[in-house]
Amino acid sequence: MSTPTGSKTAPIPYGRHSIADDDVEAVVEVLRSDWLTTGPVVPEFERAFAGAAGSSHAVAVSSGTAALHAAMHALGVGPGDEVIVPPITFVSTANCAVFQGARPVLADVEPDTLLVDPEDVERKITPRTRAVIAVDYAGHPCDYDRLDEIAYRHGIALVADACHSLGARFKGRPVGSLARVSAFSLHPVKAITAGEGGVVTTDDPTLADRMSRFRNHGISLTARDREARDTWIYEVTDLGYNYRITDIQCALGLSQLRKLERWTERRRQIARRYDEMLRDLPQVEPLAVRPWAEPAYHLYVVRLNLPTLRVDRGEVFRRLRARGIGVNVHYIPVHLHPYYRERFGTGPGLCPVAEDAYERILTLPLFPRMTDADVERVAGEVIAVLGECAR
Ligand SMILES: *Cc1c(COP(=O)(O)O)cnc(C)c1O
Repeated sequence: MSTPTGSKTAPIPYGRHSIADDDVEAVVEVLRSDWLTTGPVVPEFERAFAGAAGSSHAVAVSSGTAALHAAMHALGVGPGDEVIVPPITFVSTANCAVFQGARPVLADVEPDTLLVDPEDVERKITPRTRAVIAVDYAGHPCDYDRLDEIAYRHGIALVADACHSLGARFKGRPVGSLARVSAFSLHPVKAITAGEGGVVTTDDPTLADRMSRFRNHGISLTARDREARDTWIYEVTDLGYNYRITDIQCALGLSQLRKLERWTERRRQIARRYDEMLRDLPQVEPLAVRPWAEPAYHLYVVRLNLPTLRVDRGEVFRRLRARGIGVNVHYIPVHLHPYYRERFGTGPGLCPVAEDAYERILTLPLFPRMTDADVERVAGEVIAVLGECAR
């Protein structure tokens, strides 16, 4: 499903990166330079990213998963601790707590946005709760004022899994500045890409320092620092991993970051067009948007109104795929995966709102390079398939 769009019949994927000549040139320039990994481009990218995210510090790492893991480590999450996460997310959100020996505790989502329900977060807090990870599902920021108030009152850390929401705003403030630590992904389907990569942002210099050592084996100086100081001496001051990102990747990330605003605007335009075209269709309902949110639309998710259909979501999915529309499903709830069932005894019934939503959700294609004709074609096929399947 990697064919460029514009064709009337080629399959349209649900998401796709955009690479232009300037991206290629930026990468080639680094390939010809002295540093391939941790050189001058990593900090340059971090400064630019912190600017876009409205935070004092940004630490770039090898993936969004590494970013979440770094956040858990820096906050001191460990064995015996609990970390509250929503089930409608990519599994890394919960895995990062498990990496640290902690227990993920599922809090259900709100039915209209599929964002974590602050009231259920509060219900799930115990004396062992160390952190809550809010997921800006589909690119819609969570209610950070309410979550922050709850976290503050209970003395726990608020972390944002902002892997969907780079470019989004909450009450005018950019995502990346709304929680103690925010984690981003630079995977090709996300807002901007570095091939693979991730970033953590924070205003806390101590956390930033811990996270930057964590990505480099817990070592106090990088190879480049040692070179500059003419010394072989370094100290391992903490446990760490090799979660480094390369200068090659950061060159791509930096070049992509310049396009973020334009791309976010295009994503919003496409979402508005879908809203208009699907508005009068009784068989689907888009996710709700809160008045204080300016979403980034990483995903455009609709909920099927199953009682109006003769078929289930699987059949709608297959019929759209057969027509070349690369619909997808985000996500199978975390607590229904075999690993979580076996290790933590989770299963159906734990988060009824998420489980009901999971049966009905469908992600429609949305990425900045889609043409207006692509958008019309997707909406047209959705209307046709739902017409075929209507009761
Ligand atoms: C993509 C994603 C991640 C993981 O990012 P990677 O870069 O693929 O490791 C984590 N959480 C969410 C919500 C994501 O969408």
